[in-house]
Amino acid sequence: MEIKLTKAQIQKAVQEAYEECKNIKGGVNAHYIPYLANVNPDLFGISLTLLDGTTISVGDTEYKFGIESVSKVLTAILILKQWGAEEVLKQIGADATGLPFNSIFAILLENDHPSTPLVNAGAITACSMVKPHGDSWGKWENIINNFEALCGSRAEVIDELYRSESDTNFENRSIAWLLKNYNRIYDDVPMSLDLYTRQCSVGITAAQLGICAATIANGGTNPVTRQEVFARELAPKITTLISSVGFYQNTGDWMYTSGIPAKSGVGGGVLGVMPGLFGVAAFAPPLDDAGNSVKAQAAVKTIMKKLGLGVFNGDTVTITD
Ligand code: GLN
Repeated sequence: MEIKLTKAQIQKAVQEAYEECKNIKGGVNAHYIPYLANVNPDLFGISLTLLDGTTISVGDTEYKFGIESVSKVLTAILILKQWGAEEVLKQIGADATGLPFNSIFAILLENDHPSTPLVNAGAITACSMVKPHGDSWGKWENIINNFEALCGSRAEVIDELYRSESDTNFENRSIAWLLKNYNRIYDDVPMSLDLYTRQCSVGITAAQLGICAATIANGGTNPVTRQEVFARELAPKITTLISSVGFYQNTGDWMYTSGIPAKSGVGGGVLGVMPGLFGVAAFAPPLDDAGNSVKAQAAVKTIMKKLGLGVFNGDTVTITD
């Protein structure tokens, strides 16, 4: 089928999704650290960026929240750039775990590789692969510069979040050392874990994440800055990773009901990629049991439904002024 959409229709869908979802109750803020527990649970924003750079933002889209696990997507792109798709498949993998983001069981089950860069284990391994080897400062520069290129503007670590994450990340320490035991950490272990913790503690806005999603949807070229951030051939690789495990053990249900590959973080962010069409991000702190934002999921689903879109629908979609 051929679907023709105007920017005004997309604007209307985003606005209506915001109105319809803003009063949804349910879910609780992540509460493993005070910083996340104390974020205002009523914050809510949606930002959608089209491939010509047009951005439609409604609500709290300039509020800086903890990027948390959405960061895994950005650093997966960095290692895909630095190592290539084949090597990332070999060193980490591209399989869904079907288990929670911090599952140790998943590592024990598949101890020959950490499955995917989009769960904690694979994301810590990904940080260990970031070049230049052995140079914590150089690695961090590459990670944060890559965030900037993807999002079109600078992002900074939220110090208080980074401190609390570092003081309480006992489970991730176990994951890192267990991976080391299986020869799946390719640099210094505490350094790799620290880079992972630091990238999770970056403050990001829904507007920035929407642009990042649109950069992926646009085949690696940032639609706002026009910078080519990564090679076009890597775009389907990162979108495949997102669609297979972006919502952890709930990913199948998510894809089935929403029709859009998306990645969540416990800070309340969701980043969704419609290849060739747009990137969308939503943010609201209260989470469901799997650690995915209740309202952000509802908002993205509502937009997709209103527009009649789905990545597997097989439609030809054009967006005009
Ligand atoms: N910093 C969190 C962790 O590593 C991120 C988890 C998430 O967003 N799902 O446990």
